[in-house]
Amino acid sequence: MTIRDAEVIVTSPDRNFVTLKITTEDGVTGLGDATLNGRELAVVAYLSEHVVPLLIGADEARIEDTWQFLYRGAYWRRGPVTMAAIAAVDMALWDIKGKVAGLPVYQLLGGASRTGLLAYGHASGKELPELFDSVRAHLEQGYRAIRIQTGVPGLHAIYGIASQSADTGGGTARYDHEPARRGARPVQEDWDTRAYLRHLPGVFEAVRNEFGPELPLLHDAHHRSTPIQAARLGKDLEPYDLFWLEDCTPAENQEALRLVRSHTTTPLAIGEVFNTAWDFKDLIRDQLIDYVRGAVTHMGGITALRKTLDYAAMYQIKSGMHGPTDISPVGMAAALHLGLAIHNFGIQEYMKHGQRTDEVFQQSFTWSNGLLHPGDKPGLGVEIDLEAARAHPYERAYLPYNRLADGTVHDW
Ligand SMILES: [Mg+2]
Repeated sequence: MTIRDAEVIVTSPDRNFVTLKITTEDGVTGLGDATLNGRELAVVAYLSEHVVPLLIGADEARIEDTWQFLYRGAYWRRGPVTMAAIAAVDMALWDIKGKVAGLPVYQLLGGASRTGLLAYGHASGKELPELFDSVRAHLEQGYRAIRIQTGVPGLHAIYGIASQSADTGGGTARYDHEPARRGARPVQEDWDTRAYLRHLPGVFEAVRNEFGPELPLLHDAHHRSTPIQAARLGKDLEPYDLFWLEDCTPAENQEALRLVRSHTTTPLAIGEVFNTAWDFKDLIRDQLIDYVRGAVTHMGGITALRKTLDYAAMYQIKSGMHGPTDISPVGMAAALHLGLAIHNFGIQEYMKHGQRTDEVFQQSFTWSNGLLHPGDKPGLGVEIDLEAARAHPYERAYLPYNRLADGTVHDW
């Protein structure tokens, strides 16, 4: 068979998603996620102008060769735009291969290594009572592991904290729905690392006292500390037995992790902004991290992330795939198939998509007893309703950013 058509679909049911739909001459279709939060249309152009013309007439069965052709053949390697585009092609070809074989993709990857995937949800609150309510709500929904994000005294708006507001009738708002809650320019939030470092250990002490020692707790530091501040944070959090501390320093300076590591036994997770195995190579070889945060969508697809995770397995480093709502249901399905198949699965980030998103993307994964499973439909198990997708056109949206009290732009 050969590829007859490849279509780039942009839709914004709750937030923007970029999806590649590949169709073979026999009419088999495959979907890939190419969503790059806040820079979506750059990937649309990369795909439409430079990749789709190369796919027409190509052999859809040659997944590895297609990956190498798009990666090596372009001369310009790496980068989030390039790798999201390659990821979408890769996912769509795995989807097609599964459908042709009549098997779910995890079977093509070697079969299930477990019955389901432990997932963690995002609890947050400005103050402790609100945070406790959020943790309880997640436990009631079946989550068995919880990420804890909290407000900091003196800071007005911090990313990752849902707020109780009038527009939700006093209910807890979601902080992730874009562009509905964002607008045409990035929202400015504020930051003070010293205040954060003073406040956070007390929050974890309170959460442990309230919910006991067993519940796996995670925290995302969003790249905002210097290396020595991150080292102190890891050390201060040791009594509360974190599952992981995520993105404790900006990810570009990988030497920083060596400094952090030398001071703390708190497990470290990093890499949601990385896009190739090369970004992880030294961190894995030198055992400076415990979890690989790469997403299938941003790491060049199933083919590439599988290789990175196999390398990580040699050092007992596990997967912790990025999975907030800017990973589309297609990207999430790819993560679940990969996570089910590999031996060194660690945990899966999981934020439920909104209802409109679920109407655009029909999914077959299941969520029960805190465990995700990709389902057994051939391929990835996700289909897109094009009519529903067209009803939600693209809206420009940006992630928020933050400034210090003196106006300095700070790290994400
Ligand atoms: Mg994160």
